[in-house]
Amino acid sequence: MEAKFYEKRPDKKVKCLLCPHGCVISSGKVGICSIRKNIDGTLIALTYGRISSCSLDPIEKKPLYHFYPGKMILSLGTIGCNFACPFCQNWQISQPREAFPGEDMEEVVSKVTDSLTPKQAIDLALTYRQNGNIGLAYTYNEPFIWYEYVYETVKLAHKNGLKNVLVTNGYVNEAPLRKLLPYIDAINIDIKGFSDEVYKKLGGRLAPVLKTVEIASKDCHVELTNLIVPKLNDSREEIENLVDWVATKVGRETPLHFSRYFPNFKYAEPPTSPKTLKMAEEIGLTKLKHVHLGNV
Ligand code: SF4
Repeated sequence: MEAKFYEKRPDKKVKCLLCPHGCVISSGKVGICSIRKNIDGTLIALTYGRISSCSLDPIEKKPLYHFYPGKMILSLGTIGCNFACPFCQNWQISQPREAFPGEDMEEVVSKVTDSLTPKQAIDLALTYRQNGNIGLAYTYNEPFIWYEYVYETVKLAHKNGLKNVLVTNGYVNEAPLRKLLPYIDAINIDIKGFSDEVYKKLGGRLAPVLKTVEIASKDCHVELTNLIVPKLNDSREEIENLVDWVATKVGRETPLHFSRYFPNFKYAEPPTSPKTLKMAEEIGLTKLKHVHLGNV
């Protein structure tokens, strides 16, 4: 599928305008996210209609604790990510170039994903209605880089009375975000830390993520997650700054989930101590009404 949000450049190069990375991609190459490829001067979304993962999950697992609690949601993901978190729990699907070094991404996509058209996704979601399913969640890897598929599917979902949920790192440009938001009912945005220093280590910047949170919170139900990773973002000061910002800019009612890290991929520090999580919870509750601990 030809990608949305890009411009053509001389010498068959393209510039992708979907996320703040703004990759300029030569013919035959992919962007930072691994799955948007320049094929002869046209930007192609390699994962359109391709899924790596599909599961009927409790909505609390997204995590969303204040949006249809007790219900289920059909959760879909594909491969690729525009960040490179060294502790990613889903790195086998989010970092295909690490999982399949040296391999062509088009071949990797066909090897590790199955076909599921937007219409098939909706039909599947409808069949699970009797199991308490309220709709579709786009999750497991970064859904904004799956934009073309998500956009088609969320529109169809609303036509069929289904809800749409995004679980995202929030690293997207404003125009694509605003185009998608009318079809999104709830979103969980992962704020990975409250400094550019943290984001630099993961391959991004803090400001665009905060902007996504502010825009989304005016349009749909928003919950926030902060994975607390030892030696990365676990200082009292950083957690206080995050909580201050959420209370001031998004609102005291915004649920904030502090999640426990476990070692994975390239990060070997021991799991976050319960003491640190307790500290985060106490800081959160000084300014916010809904603070939850996850993975404990
Ligand atoms: S979506 Fe992918 S290709 Fe586009 S700018 Fe972001 S990382 Fe680069």
